[in-house]
Amino acid sequence: MSDVLLSIRDLCVYYFLTEGIVRAVDNVSLDLRRGDVLAVVGESGSGKSTLGYSILRLVPPPGKIVRGSILFEGIDLLKLPEEAMRRIRGAEISMVFQDPSVVLNPVMRVGEHIVEMLKYHRGMDEEEAWKLVEDVFESLGIPRDRARDYPHQLSGGMKQRVVIATAIVLRPKLIIADEPTTALDVITQDQILDIFRDLRDRYRVSIMLIIHDLSIVADLADRVVVMYAGKVVEEGSVEQIFYNPLHPYTRGLLMCTPRLISNDANLYSIPGEPPDLLNPPPGCRFHPRCGLCMDTCKKEEPPMIEVEPGHRVMCWLYAKR
Ligand code: ATP
Ligand code: SF4
Repeated sequence: MSDVLLSIRDLCVYYFLTEGIVRAVDNVSLDLRRGDVLAVVGESGSGKSTLGYSILRLVPPPGKIVRGSILFEGIDLLKLPEEAMRRIRGAEISMVFQDPSVVLNPVMRVGEHIVEMLKYHRGMDEEEAWKLVEDVFESLGIPRDRARDYPHQLSGGMKQRVVIATAIVLRPKLIIADEPTTALDVITQDQILDIFRDLRDRYRVSIMLIIHDLSIVADLADRVVVMYAGKVVEEGSVEQIFYNPLHPYTRGLLMCTPRLISNDANLYSIPGEPPDLLNPPPGCRFHPRCGLCMDTCKKEEPPMIEVEPGHRVMCWLYAKR
């Protein structure tokens, strides 16, 4: 059995607007190993969520997966019929959204939706399914009887636990978590992150953690992918990214993260704004904001360069010419 669970190659996902084409994910390649947490980081609008939705083939219109491959256990998800894809969603690959209301129906008891999933995917009867839902709730620190509550009766942290219960009940091999803690207070955030850590350690589930807060990444991730304007600009182990960041954008992101720098340091902010993806800058997309920009950077897109084993960067500074 290959160690690589998910292998994405040359993925392009575009939004076709009347004003033009937004290249939200542009030639992205990455691997995710079994049992690893892969953090996908970058500013708002860099294409992280679009990447996550693409894996489940749930990119909303006017978005479209234009080319590339997404191999999951060696099978290209982009070539599967929709019916086969429906069986994979939730059962093999599931998603935890930032906003629980995407998943929780206000007029359904929170356990009910999960019971329906268990009936559809596992053929369970009502009683068996409710029992399993309550077991899973308990394992996530939700009292068993809360399974029969409506969403409005639960706190934000409890709702997010229910969303996680929905994502894990069928024991998927891959969980895509899109900013799962952003809407929560710091203490609840830590509790939710403990749950992900436990899932990884206990069940060897792989997790793609889409996140903008790098301080969370340091605690939880094995590998990190840095996205900028639809491109992967750096990829490495968590140690490589934190102790030896190569891309000027990654360095900027690290300097912007409050919990990573000493309290008395002035918080840095990367100059300028992320580009408009309808009309991105030529050459290196980061060049208008980069203090190390050279002439070539403005004209030619940098190649992806493997600087050390497992550590890749897309920047002209590392090219041998
Ligand atoms: P955020 O953290 O704000 O969600 P992100 O890094 O996840 O940002 P995406 O949400 O994937 O980035 O967005 C990438 C680009 O695609 C942005 O330029 C965004 O405006 C555009 N985009 C995303 N969804 C749509 C949509 N439904 N229609 C049109 N453009 C979209
Ligand atoms: Fe900066 Fe040039 Fe590297 Fe882009 S390619 S990040 S502009 S040095």
